[in-house]
Amino acid sequence: MKPEIYKGMPAVFKRRDGKFEIKILVTGGMLTPRQVRRIGEVAERYGGEVHITVRQELSILGVPEEKLDPALQDLAEAGLLPGSAGMTFRNVVSCLGSDYCFKAAAETTSLAEEIAERFTGEKTPGPLKVGIGGCPFPCTRPQFNEIGIMGRVRPELDLEKCTGCGKCVEVCKVGAASVVEGKAVIDYGKCAMCGRCVVNCPVGARYTAEDGYMFFVGGRGSWPPHEGWIFRDFVGREEILPLIGRILEVYRAGAKPGMRLLEFINTIGFEEFRRRVEADDADPGR
Ligand code: SF4
Ligand code: SF4
Ligand code: SF4
Repeated sequence: MKPEIYKGMPAVFKRRDGKFEIKILVTGGMLTPRQVRRIGEVAERYGGEVHITVRQELSILGVPEEKLDPALQDLAEAGLLPGSAGMTFRNVVSCLGSDYCFKAAAETTSLAEEIAERFTGEKTPGPLKVGIGGCPFPCTRPQFNEIGIMGRVRPELDLEKCTGCGKCVEVCKVGAASVVEGKAVIDYGKCAMCGRCVVNCPVGARYTAEDGYMFFVGGRGSWPPHEGWIFRDFVGREEILPLIGRILEVYRAGAKPGMRLLEFINTIGFEEFRRRVEADDADPGR
């Protein structure tokens, strides 16, 4: 059974208690203190409880239909709009990345904002979710989104500076760092590009040669969960928005209504999907 939606807004819909939920758009889990206060005020005035959704949005539950208009207006005054739902490019989920997290390899929060500003709310054949994690061991599980973005750095060594202290070996979670004859060695075949050896080297013998992101497509978090394909294992930040734009073109040109990106890629095969996204010709359907 499909829930009743209010005035064409899929993020404002009737629940089993006969009242409405207002799901509020949040990007990267970030809100201003004023917005947090306003959500509390609106919930107190018109609704019941506030729920944090699994994808970093906030919902006000228990709003009677006749109070929806004033509630939505009070929210809008604080820059709070109904969230994303249905067959659209959804809100972007992100961790705090290098602005706050000591383990981060890359910046995430302004990237999430840029992606959301450009794409969130656009119509898509199926729901399209984006997850961003700031390192290769990500809390946000970006691989299980239609588009997943995961921060990475490629470490290099300055052997003249290396003292062979072994700190990099201690912090490396995947056994890619070792010390041979008193000098550090990186096994790039194993290296996850987390950059933890870089920030922990006491003498700066390790440095970031390049930073970027691993880019996944076609993941899904709900049942059955599916880990997306690695579309590219290293993309620069400036490549991300054009790449998402191109993926959307190919997806819209080929997918039937309601088809999720995973199903579409399975229909044509991952290599064909990649070929279409990377093709130079203007027709994304060929
Ligand atoms: S995903 Fe990585 S960078 Fe982001 S919060 Fe978790 S550990 Fe930190
Ligand atoms: S932490 Fe730095 S100095 Fe110590 S072994 Fe590793 S690269 Fe060399
Ligand atoms: S970047 Fe991370 S995975 Fe690679 S060698 Fe350093 S600590 Fe290990």
